[in-house]
Amino acid sequence: MDKMTLAWPEKVTFCEVGLRDGLQNEKTIPSVEQKLELLNSVVASGVKIIEVGAFVHPKAVPQMADTDALCRAMKKVDGVEYRALVPNIKGVQRAFDAGLTKAKLTVSASEAHCLANFNSTPVKMVEGFADCVEFAAKNNMVLSGAISTSFGCPFIGKVPVEMVENAVRSFVKLGITELSLSDTTGMANPRQVFDLGTHMIRAFPEVQWVMHFHNTRDMALANIVTAIQAGVRLFDGAFAGLGGCPFAPGASGNVASEDVIHMLHEMGIETGVDLLKAMDTARMAARFVGHEAGSAVLKAGRCQDLVKEKAKAQNNK
Ligand code: ZN
Repeated sequence: MDKMTLAWPEKVTFCEVGLRDGLQNEKTIPSVEQKLELLNSVVASGVKIIEVGAFVHPKAVPQMADTDALCRAMKKVDGVEYRALVPNIKGVQRAFDAGLTKAKLTVSASEAHCLANFNSTPVKMVEGFADCVEFAAKNNMVLSGAISTSFGCPFIGKVPVEMVENAVRSFVKLGITELSLSDTTGMANPRQVFDLGTHMIRAFPEVQWVMHFHNTRDMALANIVTAIQAGVRLFDGAFAGLGGCPFAPGASGNVASEDVIHMLHEMGIETGVDLLKAMDTARMAARFVGHEAGSAVLKAGRCQDLVKEKAKAQNNK
């Protein structure tokens, strides 16, 4: 390359995780009817991959206790992927019973985090998912994997690449090749994301990568940009930036879907999502949880709105 040029992709796929990761840390839990309204609004905006909830123990995460009810009540639209987060075979079975064909298994890349929470290592935990793989194969379900604390962990700080690789390798061995690298604690920085992204894409070409950022320290959009430069094409986000952070009370949550979509469209990268409709969803979500959205574009409006306002003001002079 004689000039510094970057080839940006024409399209990036956006996955909405607000109904799961967004709501699971909220104090005010929307009703099933309200969740349905949110879901319908997400579908209407054009999002094609939606995480609708989690099949975890209702006592551990009461916000997700009605995921079964939500799945049974929702009308599936063709071409939209509906998935849920599951911790184990019980979760996979519940997802299947509720009519889902996709479930996401999760493990922490950090050994210290994994040992503290599950008294197991990441590799052993993923090996334990063999029963899930068997069940999924028999029942025509697709499994994906999420690797939390892929960048930073409250126990050890920066997570070494080898730890993430160990978790990835274990998933790949089981035949699970759609993997999400998650910055659960909002500790990832753009350079780290670029380095890990390029490394992983090179080391595991068979994997379909997703990246999942929290905006705890305002680095999420920058992280998405460098992840795109590294070659990642799938990103999660949550409407209204819901989610908070269990380790930092009062901190921002997931990166706001509407901020991601707005940025990508401004960059000339298609998402297939109607931004104005995504903003409506975010307003609805903020109303349901009873607090302001953690979203720049909801506060400031779109870039193009500002231009219009200026033109109008000038015309009125
Ligand atoms: Zn998350």
